[in-house]
Amino acid sequence: MDFDLSEEHKLLQSSLRDFVEKEVRPLAVEIDEKHHIPDDLVSKMCEMGLLGSYLPEAYGGAGLDILSYTIVVEEISKACASSGILISAHTSLACDPILQFGSEAQKQSYLPSLACGQKVGCFLLTEPEAGSDVAGLVTGYKKDGDDFVINGNKIFVTNGGYQGTGIIFASMDRSLKHKGISAFIVDLQSEGAEVLRHETKLGIRGSFTTTFALNNLRVPAENLLSSEGQGFKIAMETLNGGRIGVAAQALGIAEGAFERALAYSKERKQFGRPISDQQTIQFKLADMFTRIETSKLLTYRAAWLKGNGRPYAVESALAKLHASETATYVTKEAIQIHGGYGFITEYEVERMYRDAKITEIYEGTSEIQRLIISRALLQ
Ligand SMILES: Cc1cc2nc3c(=O)[nH]c(=O)nc-3n(C[C@H](O)[C@H](O)[C@H](O)COP(=O)(O)OP(=O)(O)OC[C@H]3O[C@@H](n4cnc5c(N)ncnc54)[C@H](O)[C@@H]3O)c2cc1C
Repeated sequence: MDFDLSEEHKLLQSSLRDFVEKEVRPLAVEIDEKHHIPDDLVSKMCEMGLLGSYLPEAYGGAGLDILSYTIVVEEISKACASSGILISAHTSLACDPILQFGSEAQKQSYLPSLACGQKVGCFLLTEPEAGSDVAGLVTGYKKDGDDFVINGNKIFVTNGGYQGTGIIFASMDRSLKHKGISAFIVDLQSEGAEVLRHETKLGIRGSFTTTFALNNLRVPAENLLSSEGQGFKIAMETLNGGRIGVAAQALGIAEGAFERALAYSKERKQFGRPISDQQTIQFKLADMFTRIETSKLLTYRAAWLKGNGRPYAVESALAKLHASETATYVTKEAIQIHGGYGFITEYEVERMYRDAKITEIYEGTSEIQRLIISRALLQ
C-alpha cells in the first residue's frame, strides 16, 4: 500500500497552488459578493486544462487520472468553492456520462468542446417533485419521427446559466418508474430549453443554480445516451462518480478553513499569549485536522478505485458523507477559533461555513449516503 502521491500528482498540486494563489484566491470574496465567477477566470481554468482533466487526449482532454481531477477540485475549492463545483459538476456530471455511456460518435461530437470549456456541462435530473426520489421524476418524452420531444421542468441545475451541454433525464412512461427513464445529451441553447431563473443561495453563490422549463424540446435520436430505459442506471452511476468531486470540494473547503484557523490561532493574543497556547484551541485544531485527514484518505481512495476500474459506489458515498460533514464541522470550528472576527466577511471563514453546507445536500443528501452505506452493510 502506497500512501504517497506520485511525482506527477505532486507537480500538479504545486502548479495548482500557484494558480490558485495568483488567479483564484484574490477573486473569492468578489465571486461570493457578486454571485458570479468572472468569465476571465473560467477562461483561465479552461486554459489550464482543468475542465477536461481526466478526459482522454483523443477528445481534447488532459488525459490525467481521476485522482488528478480530485486534486484539481480540492485545490480550487480551498480558495473558492463556487469555482470548485463548476469544475466538478462539469466533469463528473456532464463529461463523465458521455465518456462512460456515449457512442463513439457522441464522444467525438461533444467531448472536445467540453474538454476545452467552450461548452460548460451540466446535469438536469432534479425536479420540483423529485429530488432524492429520482424514479419519481415527471418530465416526459415522446418519440416524434426521428426526434424525441421532451416536456417538463428541471430545477437546481449547477452550471445551468452557461447554457452549454446538458444531460437531461426524462421518462417515457411514469408507470414504469425507474425503468422508464432515459438520458439525452442536449444543447441548452436549443429552442424549447428556457431558463426561468437563477437561485440566490446561502453559499457557493458564484455557482449558477438554474431552473429550466422544457417546452417541446426537440432532441435528435442520435442524442439518446445508451438506449431507452437506461437513464436511471446512468444517473446513479454518474452520481457515484460525482460524489468523489463533491467530497473533494468539501475536503478543499475544510482545508482552506483549517489553514486560516491554524494561522490565526498563532497570531491572535489574549491574556498575554497566543490563543494557540490554550489547550481548548489545540484540541479543536487536533480534531479538525483528524477529520480532514480521514476525509482525504477516503476521498483519494474512492478516486483511486474509480480510476482503476474497481467498484467504488460505497466508497464514494463514504467519502462524500464524511468529507461533507467534516467541512461543516471544520468551518464552524474555524469561525469559533476566530471569535468575533470569524463572523466578519473579511476573514472569509464565514463564507467557507456557508459554502460547506451544500456538500451535505447535493448529489445525494447525507441521509441518502447513509442509506447507500447501510444497505451495502446489510445486504
Ligand atoms: C445549490 C444546488 C445545486 C444543485 N445542483 C444540481 C444539479 O446540478 N443537478 C441536479 O439534478 N440536481 C441538483 N441539485 C439538487 C440536489 O441534488 C437535491 O436538492 C438533493 O438531491 C435533495 O433533493 P431535494 O432537495 O428534493 O430534497 P428531498 O429529497 O425532498 O429531501 C428532503 C429531506 O428528506 C430527506 N429524505 C428524503 N428521502 C429520504 C429517505 N428515503 N430516507 C431518509 N431521508 C430522506 C433528505 O435527506 C432531506 O433531508 C442541486 C441542489 C442545490 C441546492
